Amino acid sequence: MKSTNRTVSKVKQIALVAHDHCKTDLLRWVKENKDALSQHQLFATGTTGTILTRETGLEITSLMSGPMGGDQQLGAMICEKKIDVLVFFWDPLSSVPHDPDVKALLRIAAVWNIPVAINRATARYLITSPLMNDEVQVEIPDYNSYLEERL
Ligand code: PGA
Repeated sequence: MKSTNRTVSKVKQIALVAHDHCKTDLLRWVKENKDALSQHQLFATGTTGTILTRETGLEITSLMSGPMGGDQQLGAMICEKKIDVLVFFWDPLSSVPHDPDVKALLRIAAVWNIPVAINRATARYLITSPLMNDEVQVEIPDYNSYLEERL
């Protein structure tokens, strides 16, 4: 597929999601990186966002809860280029009822070349990257060419 570039501004749109057994880990990471995160626009699935807002005071836009469609909302936002970074601590040790949505979110993040942190280690590397505070050119699929080729 042909690719094109999109410009991601200094202020990133960051999505935060954690499965239930991983919420404590994400909360700890968010507290540790509160200053850095406060420079960006934050989004989260319903329960994750409500807990993070309550515990950190950060301004976070909470979508629907994951099992009720929140993962799909984030996936749609990625397609619409409204999310630049995904921090998604999914649970490798328990199954969740919305597993197809989890898979779909990870898939669409891969399609649109979104940086994804799946645990504290990756999240640490991501948040300390100089690119987080810079305007960045990101390669994405050239949707117009894709459509032309299919018509
Ligand atoms: P929650 O959803 O933040 O509402 O718990 C997270 C998820 O399971 O995707």
